[in-house]
Amino acid sequence: MRQPMVAGNWKLNGSSQGAKALVDGILAGLDDTIPAQIVICPPFVYLQQSREMLQSSDVGLGAQNVCAEDKGAFTGEVSAPMLHDVGCHYVIVGHSERRSLYYETDELVGRKFESAVNAGLVPILCVGESLTEREKGITETVVGRQLKAVIDQVGAIQVSQAVIAYEPVWAIGTGLTASPEQAQAVHAYIRKELHMAGGAADETRLLYGGSVKPENAADLFAMPDIDGGLIGGASLDAESFLAICRAT
Ligand code: PEP
Repeated sequence: MRQPMVAGNWKLNGSSQGAKALVDGILAGLDDTIPAQIVICPPFVYLQQSREMLQSSDVGLGAQNVCAEDKGAFTGEVSAPMLHDVGCHYVIVGHSERRSLYYETDELVGRKFESAVNAGLVPILCVGESLTEREKGITETVVGRQLKAVIDQVGAIQVSQAVIAYEPVWAIGTGLTASPEQAQAVHAYIRKELHMAGGAADETRLLYGGSVKPENAADLFAMPDIDGGLIGGASLDAESFLAICRAT
């Protein structure tokens, strides 16, 4: 039985006051009707204050990115052991914004994943196709390639113990959402590929991400291979985020 998960990716948003208000709002709205494991991923500089606020709750803390190296002359980077040290349990790797804006290759994403696992973090691995790739009919080829790069790096068992987020690039921050059937088809493909590679695919939590809102969350989460969501814009508002968490 996979526990559902909803993770909020705050991206480059907030201030110390705003982050405090958002965490306060989430904590105030928690109740026993939420079956999901909730995770928030604030910017690096607000991780520590968030950790302190979350201490007596079950809300998990994650970072949005990680360096592939553990330490050394890598100015401006933050390593997996450092994230673990400040109380992170999760880290997003391979988000499409990192892949497209910061030229992260499949190989680099694989190394970041490995570094996270070695430090005791659970990676939230993002995969997904662009609109052009979907229109060309190569969604599975692209997602399969992104997945294989990480499997080649760490093995299918390690990948299946992480969290995988299918995020079609054309749906991120655009207001366009994959239909539940479109998302389910790719989730089923990911689970099948993981299984065929030798992973414990039935246990892997597969999240959908891309313009999830309180209005469309329940239909997406009702699909058999969708175990929750990775939420961008709607995670910046405590009420919306909690409504999505309740929809799991
Ligand atoms: C994301 O950034 O991972 C994301 C899914 O964003 P949004 O929900 O805003 O589309």
